[in-house]
Amino acid sequence: MCVHTFRTAAGALLVFSGLLAAQNLNISNEKIRAHVKYLSSDELEGRGVGTRGGKLATDYIAAQLQAEGVKPGGENGTYFQRVPLAGVTTSKTASLSFRGKGGAVRLRYITDFVGTSLAQTPVNNFSAPAVFVGHGIEAPEFGWDDYKGVDVKGKVLVFFTNEPPSIDPKFFGGPTLTYYGRWTYKFEEAARKGAVAAIIIHTTPTAGYGWEVVRNSGGGEHPQEKLEAGQRGLKFAGWVTEAAGQKLIASTGKTIAQLLAMANEPSFHPIALGRITGHIPVHIRSIESRNVVGRVEGSDPELAKQAVLFTAHWDHLGIGVPINGDKIYNGAVDNATGCAMVLDIARLWAALPQKPKRTALFVFVTAEEAGLIGSDYYGKHPVIPAGETAVDINFDAFFPLGKTSDVSVTGAERTTLWPLVQRDAASMHLDIKPDPEPGQGLYYRSDHFSLARVGIPAFSLEEGHTYLGKSADFGATAFEQYNDQHYHRPSDEYKNDWDFGGIVQMAEFGLRIGLDTANTPKLPTWQAGDEFLKARQASGVR
Ligand SMILES: [Zn+2]
Repeated sequence: MCVHTFRTAAGALLVFSGLLAAQNLNISNEKIRAHVKYLSSDELEGRGVGTRGGKLATDYIAAQLQAEGVKPGGENGTYFQRVPLAGVTTSKTASLSFRGKGGAVRLRYITDFVGTSLAQTPVNNFSAPAVFVGHGIEAPEFGWDDYKGVDVKGKVLVFFTNEPPSIDPKFFGGPTLTYYGRWTYKFEEAARKGAVAAIIIHTTPTAGYGWEVVRNSGGGEHPQEKLEAGQRGLKFAGWVTEAAGQKLIASTGKTIAQLLAMANEPSFHPIALGRITGHIPVHIRSIESRNVVGRVEGSDPELAKQAVLFTAHWDHLGIGVPINGDKIYNGAVDNATGCAMVLDIARLWAALPQKPKRTALFVFVTAEEAGLIGSDYYGKHPVIPAGETAVDINFDAFFPLGKTSDVSVTGAERTTLWPLVQRDAASMHLDIKPDPEPGQGLYYRSDHFSLARVGIPAFSLEEGHTYLGKSADFGATAFEQYNDQHYHRPSDEYKNDWDFGGIVQMAEFGLRIGLDTANTPKLPTWQAGDEFLKARQASGVR
């Protein structure tokens, strides 16, 4: 077992026993600040995917890795892994109309519905019978099947997001949302079953957020992972308002609340609705985006074939709808901070006089904001196979508000790394705080999830809410303020008075977990019964 000591007297001097014998190596507050300042500057135009700003951001990250002696981990001896994308913009003339027993309804794009085509073809017309399929879930391990064997090939599926409510952890994870509850799963399942289109009826409680959130993500270009040859995507995947949904289900004679109650019962059976006609013209352009990959080789002849992985997404929303006269969505917190932290961890790792046993990979992924695309691509095309990757530690959006006495590592408790993570937290006097809102499914909304899907034990680090020297409610209030005023807005900007103490602290915590995992004898895996254990075993880890 590795032993850490941590002295704070003369700044942060990290002494990693056996590795950093009295080397003066520590995470740099100044370097992190400089990275955040540049990556979130107006010069980078919000780091949009497929834009000049995105290219500058990835060039910068690669140049920094090179300057610090981190080797290229991408294709053909470069720092880059190309990620082919289709940039899809839905035309304003998109329309959906519905014909049922009660007559015909025409839904208006943006007002009544949002969404796009996932087929990656410019013209997407369909007219097909619609079927209400409850939550749209088929989960044999929970004895749950909303489809009940009904053939939905060529049909339009209508469903709610979320999953059947449960307090039993063995049934849909109890109060914790499983992936079955996420809308991304439902679209994937609809495509697997050969449906032509899929529509979610939005309600604030089932989605966990209001219609404005859905609507605001509706306009503009949506990058999609390029379909592979022979792969087919839904001609339409999107959302309708609760009011529009009520019209779609009018023929059932039920209200939305009644249908939701029915969908929450295992006896639920699909209900035929009327006919839905869609006309979803889109503009498509090819985008070649890229992940940036740095690599530091491990020291053990055998274990160096295996990796510990650090990830952070470099992309943000680019230039968009102006708010208060500002149209650059700088993305300072989200996620210049995470990139800066991984850059500095990479710098330290490369400087270690004696390298840890496993190889370290530092992957800066693209197109997170468009749906975890860059990380998904990496998961499918890993530099070191998933079955040889010990962990993914992800960094996404940190607040520059000073040090905390707590930390959140949601997902780590589901892996065999849990004792190691607890030990590293204790060594830094950090309390591990449980997920405050397990029903929100936050675990499925950041890049580590893409790696968990291919079996890699994966989680994000997040600072806690208890700030040193601040009032008890300071953290929660600051977080709320950020969410209300700056999250995904042009005002997520760098300020000179930012306190990077907590960010340095979290980078150190991530570094320790990474170092310890790189030296742990056995490859970590998921706990018995976990939803990702199957994928881990399939990747060859027993
Ligand atoms: Zn983010």
